[in-house]
Amino acid sequence: MNFLECAGKSLLAMAGISIPEGQQAMTVQKAVSIAQEIGPCVIKAQVPTGKRGKAGGIQLAFTTDEVRLHAENILGMKIGGEVVEKLLIEEQIPISCELYAAILTDPDSKGPLILFASQGGMDIEEIAIRYPEKLMRLPVNIRKGFDLEQTREALPALEGIVDERGLLELLSQLYRVYIDHDAELLEINPLTVTDRGQLVAADCKFTLDDSAIKRQRSLAKQGVPDRLTELEARAQTIGFKYVELDGNVGILANGAGLTMTSMDAVVHYGGKPANFLEIGGEAYSLGKEALETVLSNHNVKSLLINFCGAFARTDVMTEGIVRAWEAINPTVPVFFTIHGTGEDVAVDMIKTRLGVEPYDLMDDAVKAAVKAAQ
Ligand code: GDP
Ligand code: MN
Repeated sequence: MNFLECAGKSLLAMAGISIPEGQQAMTVQKAVSIAQEIGPCVIKAQVPTGKRGKAGGIQLAFTTDEVRLHAENILGMKIGGEVVEKLLIEEQIPISCELYAAILTDPDSKGPLILFASQGGMDIEEIAIRYPEKLMRLPVNIRKGFDLEQTREALPALEGIVDERGLLELLSQLYRVYIDHDAELLEINPLTVTDRGQLVAADCKFTLDDSAIKRQRSLAKQGVPDRLTELEARAQTIGFKYVELDGNVGILANGAGLTMTSMDAVVHYGGKPANFLEIGGEAYSLGKEALETVLSNHNVKSLLINFCGAFARTDVMTEGIVRAWEAINPTVPVFFTIHGTGEDVAVDMIKTRLGVEPYDLMDDAVKAAVKAAQ
């Protein structure tokens, strides 16, 4: 779950990291009145996406007229598909240099990774290409936590641009924020050094690990809810967990685990899943809705139906889908693979009522579905 810069910065401030003085505004009038208190300021679009600077969503203002002009321009602006509804009005920082600091959950080392660069203000990808020698990538053992000595040794040459002790303290504070708030990503870019040598977080990107939303309830309330596609929103009203993906093999399986296994198998055989859909035990009563949901994605070129039953009976699930199929009468090629309780009845039903031959092996059904979608 993504958070706006202003929400991320308040987490930093609570942990003792310096941020610029500032306030939020949703109207031009409010922006002007905040600026009158602050003086020369930066006006920043609050949208959960990067590259705001390049899009014109970050402007310096020195006079009331400039504040008004920029606030008018930025409010309502569209950046990365997001409409700007909120501004952050901040004091200007006298920047002597821009650094980069982040902690993120790293799939390779399967734990926190500290990224620090003595050159910031641009995307991390660009830093990594242009200044690899200035970039530190330090995996942290999550059981041991932040290691000051190890971090000191890994730092790139600072060449006097920033005090080492202050920087290490900031990184350890950042690690605390990352752990305490179950971050997936916590990034300060730029981390500015002021003309008096003080470290100030000029920007903050905080992403909460979705798996931790349950134990970060009050924090999650301040997050920006994911934008759903039209189809995802419709599926949500039925009570389905449906995620629209960019592939063309539609997937219908019982249970989230089997669905993800089916998705993996599709990828394994060179295809791309068109969706995730969790229908659980509702395949019988909501078969029609489930089928309609998957097929409403017009990229779907073939459909894989994978049922596996233990307590849940596959013949009951199949009855639901077969009935739905008869009602909707889709033209998409369909590939069944059915195992477990009630499979003989289920297989027979598919053969006689749909005239389709189910596959005995899941792999074969997946291969056929991938091929048909090509
Ligand atoms: P992003 O483009 O969405 O990452 O937005 P940032 O918050 O990182 O701002 C982009 C750039 O604006 C920064 O790299 C800075 O160079 C500049 N900037 C942001 N705040 C200030 C400030 O207080 N003073 C000055 N002079 N520049 C700033
Ligand atoms: Mn930034």
